[in-house]
Amino acid sequence: MLNFINGYSELGEEFGAFVNPEGFERPKMVAVNKELLKEIGIDAGSVSDDDLAEFLAGNKIAPTSKPFASVYSGHQFGGYSPRLGDGRALLLGEVVTGNDSVVDLQLKGAGLTPYSRMGDGRAVLRSVIREYLGSEAMFHLGIPTTRALSIVGSDHAVYRETTETGAIMGRVSKSHTRFGHFEYFHHNGRHDELQTLLDYTIERNFPEIKDEESKYDLFFYTVVKRTADLIAKWQCVGYTHGVMNTDNMSIVGDTIDYGPYGFMDNYESMYIPNHSDSFGRYAYAKQPQIGMWNLQCLGTALSSVITEESIQSILGEYPTFFNGSYIEGMAAKFGLLNITDEIVDFIFSTLKTLERNRADFTNFFRALSRFDGNGDCLAGFLKDEKARCEWVELYDGFLKLEDLATEERHEKMKSVNPKYILRNYMLQNAIEKAETGDFSEVERLHELFRKPFDEELEFEEYAVDSPDWGKKLVISCSS
Ligand code: AMP
Ligand code: MG
Repeated sequence: MLNFINGYSELGEEFGAFVNPEGFERPKMVAVNKELLKEIGIDAGSVSDDDLAEFLAGNKIAPTSKPFASVYSGHQFGGYSPRLGDGRALLLGEVVTGNDSVVDLQLKGAGLTPYSRMGDGRAVLRSVIREYLGSEAMFHLGIPTTRALSIVGSDHAVYRETTETGAIMGRVSKSHTRFGHFEYFHHNGRHDELQTLLDYTIERNFPEIKDEESKYDLFFYTVVKRTADLIAKWQCVGYTHGVMNTDNMSIVGDTIDYGPYGFMDNYESMYIPNHSDSFGRYAYAKQPQIGMWNLQCLGTALSSVITEESIQSILGEYPTFFNGSYIEGMAAKFGLLNITDEIVDFIFSTLKTLERNRADFTNFFRALSRFDGNGDCLAGFLKDEKARCEWVELYDGFLKLEDLATEERHEKMKSVNPKYILRNYMLQNAIEKAETGDFSEVERLHELFRKPFDEELEFEEYAVDSPDWGKKLVISCSS
């Protein structure tokens, strides 16, 4: 059994509530991330699936675990919700990993908490599979994220648009603290608690600044920078979060809370994966500015410990941080390392061209990673021959200014342009099978997305454009 520490829940009763998980009557181990399990100190070979399911459903609690639901608030679609909190997540505690870092282990979908509001505290199998595969895919793309440890399935009925079954996900993260945690204490005038949480967060997740005199300014500066870098990385793989509310923004700059997210198929600046986002507030191209908006909310929440002047000056850095990371990331996708103003213009005009051509974002850049001066490999993406030839000439001109052999460039480009991306249709196929009790496709996708940049010929069938039905899928935000 794991040896838990309970640093977060020991902050005090103002921070949440102790709640026992409700678990499942007949829990069934559906998926387990053995590598991560090992990292947190459990050898999959030494424990039976049944015992693991009992533990990861919350039926059995380790003696050192004190399950805890934390309180937070947040801005949802632009409006302030004064009390949210872990409505269906429970922190079992923190664990020290093999490489000496401290991580949280949370169960998501393990029943009611004082913050469940109108909800049932449950998560459906469909949404748990989406989070499990989505977060692992992001991790292996090299994008900061919470991790997925396990899925426990059940025959427990959960009511959404239709009757579904409940599942519980084990989630591992270096922090589950959200911007919304700080907003909650600020807007309730609980400045002492805010400072307690801030000190705890710095001590645990930002130890390099803990002895600095201006540690709170540095903290905010680091969060602004990490958030900008994170969103730049999202843009470079076409990931769209779907619900960038401030309660879904991680204080350590990880991607958190995978709901109606999507990796776009064809390049579409107004790509909106969330069916309920009617105005496109969280569309793909809006993410950078929403990141700024959310950081402004965090800045306000920190105004009892940082001066207004500092907050504004740190926020003022955001566009530079974002643009720097984004342009660098995009230029690397083209195999261009010496960035000039012409190259920046070229990147933006190419994106417009891709959009006009309804070209597949992932497959275009993967094809470009084979470019050898001849534009034939791009014919399926840039359809007009004359325009394609002009584009190729321009691009080839930029490549000639780089001091890189073709093969070397191809290798570099293949390491940033994934061959495989987790498309909605793939998730849909895996979910439909799983709902009949067959989890083989979940396992196969988990395996595939451990190496999204590799050639992996056995997975070739996943490297093509989505079928039309897959492009039209809309993701319900009920989960
Ligand atoms: P989300 O937008 O999914 O991140 O959720 C926003 C808030 O609703 C959080 O406080 C969640 O804990 C809560 N919530 C979402 N689904 C449920 C549910 N089925 N039962 C209880 N609370 C929920
Ligand atoms: Mg959330």
